[in-house]
Amino acid sequence: MELNLQPIELEGVSKEHPLIIAGPCSAETEEQVISTATQLANKGIKIFRAGIWKPRTKPGGFEGIGVDGLAWMKRVKQETGMYVATEVATAKHVYECLKAGIDILWIGARTTANPFAVQEIADALKGVDIPVYVKNPVNPDLELWIGALERINNAGLKRLGAIHRGFSSYDKKIYRNLPQWHIPIELRRRIPNLPILCDPSHIGGKRELIAPLCQQAMDLGLDGLIVESHCNPDCAWSDAAQQITPDVLDYILNLLVIRKGHQSTESLHELRLQIDACDNELMEILAKRMRVCREIGTFKKEHNMTVLQTGRYNEILDKRGAQGTLCGMDADFVKQVFEAIHEESVRQQLEIINK
Ligand code: PEP
Ligand code: MN
Repeated sequence: MELNLQPIELEGVSKEHPLIIAGPCSAETEEQVISTATQLANKGIKIFRAGIWKPRTKPGGFEGIGVDGLAWMKRVKQETGMYVATEVATAKHVYECLKAGIDILWIGARTTANPFAVQEIADALKGVDIPVYVKNPVNPDLELWIGALERINNAGLKRLGAIHRGFSSYDKKIYRNLPQWHIPIELRRRIPNLPILCDPSHIGGKRELIAPLCQQAMDLGLDGLIVESHCNPDCAWSDAAQQITPDVLDYILNLLVIRKGHQSTESLHELRLQIDACDNELMEILAKRMRVCREIGTFKKEHNMTVLQTGRYNEILDKRGAQGTLCGMDADFVKQVFEAIHEESVRQQLEIINK
């Protein structure tokens, strides 16, 4: 299905630069909201975020200030001129936000994962023209992400965007949520005119990772950033470890290198031709390897051998992994490549054996 989209253009917000949304994870007190918003506005930030209702993984955490916080968001609009954005997870949240004049809505990762909840929000938004950003679902499922965007779009909303906030995983080594950049990149390929923002705060889960993640998102051509920023991060009621002061945010944004999306220079064209030639060679050599594999398949069939010979497979993975490291490639990457090649070889041999 094609999405019927319109650009999210906000008066006074430059189209030339990455779109920046910033503000605390949660609205906590009126003073915290106004103080953070004022500091951000002084740094030139035009869109303020704050969670009013907070979906928390475990009960007992701060679950959001609720409707009272919407009045503080109104004050932010009046006193700073910023646009204000918050998360909605139910039809009631939608009605309250519309009543309070919230400018931009987003759907959180836990909500996107639930089609019933997304449909309820879509129904509540029918006939309303407001920008909506859809965060990726917690699980790395691109179809679920696109499905949520389709539900909102089917309700008639055209000013849509996506937010990449990483994917949850049992194995939390560096990141709170694994970036799995290939997923937003695939989203870009599937829906080229959909703006995609990156949320480095929820990917990283810690302050030190915000700057490198922002840069990575820009290098991959994403359209903007939504960053958690708090006037006193250490005392934040939610996600304290990943929030940064408006000063630090400003410092990070000033150091960002924004590369041009399109390059027209001759040299880039030349280099792309070289890549195409390499890819052709790769395909030819892969096809040749598969031919040899099929011959081995015939041999195995004639000698009544099993297709999978584990010893040989391990030998290939070890040898090529080590060789990859010597050639400056990541050993895991090389392993993955050979696992994929091996899988296809096995499939082809099984075809021969079962003929
Ligand atoms: C948030 O933006 O504060 C939030 C709860 O994010 P996510 O839905 O990505 O976990
Ligand atoms: Mn948060």
